[in-house]
Amino acid sequence: MIILKFGGTSVGSVERIREVANLSNNTQRKVVVLSAMSGTTNSLIEIAEYLYKKNHDSANEAINKLELNYYEVTNKLFSTTEYKKKGIDLIQSHFSHIKSFTQDMFTLFEEKAILAQGELISTALLHYYFNEQKIESVLIPALNFMRTDKDGEPDLFYIKENINREIDLHPNNTIFITQGFICRNAFGEIDNLRRGGSDYTASLVGVACEAEEIQIWTDIDGMHNNDPRFVENTTPLSNLSFDEAAELAYFGAKILHPASIQPCKVANVPVRLKNTLEPKALGTLISSKVNGSGIKSIAAKDRITAIKIKSGRMLLAHGFMRKVFEIFETYKTSIDMITTSEVAVSVTIDDTKYLNDIVDELKKYGTVEIDKDLSIICVVGDFIAESKGYAFRVMESLQNISIRMISYGGSRHNVTLLVNTSDKKEALNSLHQNLFNRV
Ligand code: ADP
Ligand code: ASP
Ligand code: MG
Repeated sequence: MIILKFGGTSVGSVERIREVANLSNNTQRKVVVLSAMSGTTNSLIEIAEYLYKKNHDSANEAINKLELNYYEVTNKLFSTTEYKKKGIDLIQSHFSHIKSFTQDMFTLFEEKAILAQGELISTALLHYYFNEQKIESVLIPALNFMRTDKDGEPDLFYIKENINREIDLHPNNTIFITQGFICRNAFGEIDNLRRGGSDYTASLVGVACEAEEIQIWTDIDGMHNNDPRFVENTTPLSNLSFDEAAELAYFGAKILHPASIQPCKVANVPVRLKNTLEPKALGTLISSKVNGSGIKSIAAKDRITAIKIKSGRMLLAHGFMRKVFEIFETYKTSIDMITTSEVAVSVTIDDTKYLNDIVDELKKYGTVEIDKDLSIICVVGDFIAESKGYAFRVMESLQNISIRMISYGGSRHNVTLLVNTSDKKEALNSLHQNLFNRV
């Protein structure tokens, strides 16, 4: 079994959907995980925002616009009258479901149900397209097996039991299609795995099915050595270890959902990043193998908040750190970076939902300062922390940038720095120039 995950741009037009069908149509047994067509989730979020604000006119306008787009897609995708009609009926039923929410009180539950429509539509369209082409495929609804537990973490036991049960019902089929991103929560309500979550679905499905490989098909030829949205002339990496890829994904390389590599590492399922626009390009293979040492890639993560707790009285006392960490644990807020001095400790978080509560509690132990609009820059590779030269080269590259925090030596895979978001682009470019382009 292999897993093929196609992201938004890879199903973003009729031509691309046909190409997905093409790439999936061979004898190898596979689960095809699809995202919504590109732009759809953003439009659905916009619709939900209008509904929260009870701005029904704007919501209806946005719904109608999206619905019309989908009629164009179905009309172009299918060639027979039978399937054009099936396609139209499908779109009508999903959009009448979306429209039904404009009548009632709007809550998080309705929002999640609306957001799920994008993936439900793209998978149904591909399934119909296969049917029209007389290619057998089975649609297995993610809402029947993808589930999170009471802590919001994937319930791997449940996922494994249920997806395999669905697949085992069709021993002679080779193509299974399912929705990325969407799931049910511990109460059985529709939920999702957060933005970009289809990668995470692909990993969880891959692990649950004990797949030989998980392929993430996207709009770029693999993991590049820097963020191509901010740096020119980045180049793809042919190999990465799970640790290196997990670090890059967690610290902002958008090509992978932040949590998507960890399950694959634990189960040792290789992940291959491939380009739908250039299927022959090698891409990046992520596996347990470490290939070559040194600095491999740079990523950045925005919307970081730093919290500094100063306490001359407490810091040296036993148990101070435990008390600080317990506060973050109580509010289920994870810490990304941490640095300490004799009188202060600084940590960073990206989820500020409980910031005020956390600060109130921290104030019991000292004075608290908050810095916002920061970015973490993460330099990733395989370098033993003590190796000479790496830290120097990183710091030398950033000599014109003010650095708020540095984390080095936590693992052999990264040097992590905290800068103002306004300096991020310059920092990424200057690191790129110094670390990869130096003659
Ligand atoms: P999909 O819709 O297929 O999930 P995404 O937009 O989520 O695609 O991810 C692919 C994008 O990730 C690329 O187009 C690129 O702009 C961005 N990206 C950010 N950092 C990197 C990186 N280091 N290597 C490759 N792509 C990256
Ligand atoms: N459609 C979802 C999003 O746009 C999930 C994904 O594309 O991975 O975030
Ligand atoms: Mg993505």
